[in-house]
Amino acid sequence: MNDSKRIAIGMISHETNTFSPVATDLESFAGQRHGIVEAGQIIADFTGTKTGIGGFLEVGAEQGWQMIGTVVASATPSANVAASAHTALRDKLTGYLNGAGTLDGVLLHLHGAMLAENAPDAEGDICRAVRAVIGADVPLVVELDLHGNITPEFCEVVDGVIVYDTNPHIDAYERGLEAANLLAAILSGDIKRPRVYISKPPMLPPTINMRTAEGPMVKLLERRREWESGPGIQNVAVFPGFPYADFDGAGTSIIVTATDPELGARCAREMGQLAWDMRDEFLKPLLSVPDAVDEALVLIGEDDAHGPPVVLADVADNPGGGGSGETPELIRELVQRGAQGAVACLWDPESVEQAFALGVGGEAEFRLGGKASDLYGEPVVARGVVRCLSDGIFVGHGPVVRGLTVRCGRTALIDVNGLKIVATTVRHAANDQGYFSVVGIQPQREPLLVIKSRGHFRADFEPIARTIIEVDAPGAANPNLSRYNYERVSRPIWPLDEDVSWEAE
Ligand SMILES: [Zn+2]
Repeated sequence: MNDSKRIAIGMISHETNTFSPVATDLESFAGQRHGIVEAGQIIADFTGTKTGIGGFLEVGAEQGWQMIGTVVASATPSANVAASAHTALRDKLTGYLNGAGTLDGVLLHLHGAMLAENAPDAEGDICRAVRAVIGADVPLVVELDLHGNITPEFCEVVDGVIVYDTNPHIDAYERGLEAANLLAAILSGDIKRPRVYISKPPMLPPTINMRTAEGPMVKLLERRREWESGPGIQNVAVFPGFPYADFDGAGTSIIVTATDPELGARCAREMGQLAWDMRDEFLKPLLSVPDAVDEALVLIGEDDAHGPPVVLADVADNPGGGGSGETPELIRELVQRGAQGAVACLWDPESVEQAFALGVGGEAEFRLGGKASDLYGEPVVARGVVRCLSDGIFVGHGPVVRGLTVRCGRTALIDVNGLKIVATTVRHAANDQGYFSVVGIQPQREPLLVIKSRGHFRADFEPIARTIIEVDAPGAANPNLSRYNYERVSRPIWPLDEDVSWEAE
């Protein structure tokens, strides 16, 4: 048993989408379900939870550590974090560390793709500030999301990096255990103090094919396990990265935590080369809006309108990746073509309030979507009939939100000539059939479903879908990266530039 080591824990987490029209300020963090939690309240709130922080606390209890809470704050993906919010959260964290007295170690759960107006490499900035307080000798181990964009500067100030192994992410708790166990091994002297090695091939893959159950991530994670099974290497972290971040650290990285410097550097190099050689496997063809609608309408056909639904995935507007959940182009095309079916969710408080004022059965001209910004299209102007009004509350039944109470805020079903649009006042990716049934729609009985989500929706909709068509529509999270005007990513970079060559060194 340890003689009560003093370990500080904290979390500041945001996946920043530079191209999102949704602003990120301190209220974006404070307004989350947990709000901003500080000091001892963190221990009270997170002990026993299956979260990264919960994992830290569990190992802390086993080790007999004295756990010191600092700050826990996270916000859903949106645009660059306001300088004031980043500074406030970072200074809160360092303030608690300053006041904590002697520390033996620090465990942080960060994201990796947070980009602040005053600190493009926000995690690097946070960890440098932490290092400045705790000094060179106190180990700092960090848990991150595999969508992180990791920089060499970040790697210089941390002692260990643990990343999610799963996408969709279901292992934050297990990785929290792993991070804390790594810290325990360092503190006990079981291993000597590791260093963190990085390889960064010039690649910026879209997020469309980063799932860990199939595609290129499977091979990368397999190879990584082989490296980890030998001595000298504590962890190999594969970060495919997050491409909607316009800064020079954006892109894929391999981060190796190793006690053997020669092996650590070699592993990073080899894994970086493997990721580079496999880069094309991260791409997936998408159909343009007109082509996707064509294909859907052909599949549905006139005779077969009662078969299972064809799903059009509006992947570019996924709120889970920084989309505003209200881009209009796919809806516009469907309305023009007279398509029948249902759309979830359109974030549109203005249309919802209009529908509530009209009441069920009321009819009026609506301006649908395109409210957060006109960057991705003007509102669709169309006559609609209000079919249902709801408080937007339901309990999820699909794998992603099973058993959880989901709150969409006031929600209206607006019927535009047979295209039924679920309009909400809270922004959500429709990752459960409940987003349709909350306004009385049975999704399996619709010929066509439009879902604004990238991947998580598949768990509940693949079983009822005839097919899923991913659409190349305007939005802040489009897999077709040539749509974006990058100004700061380091060039040349694949796939934005042609004929990029690279060899790991
Ligand atoms: Zn992620």
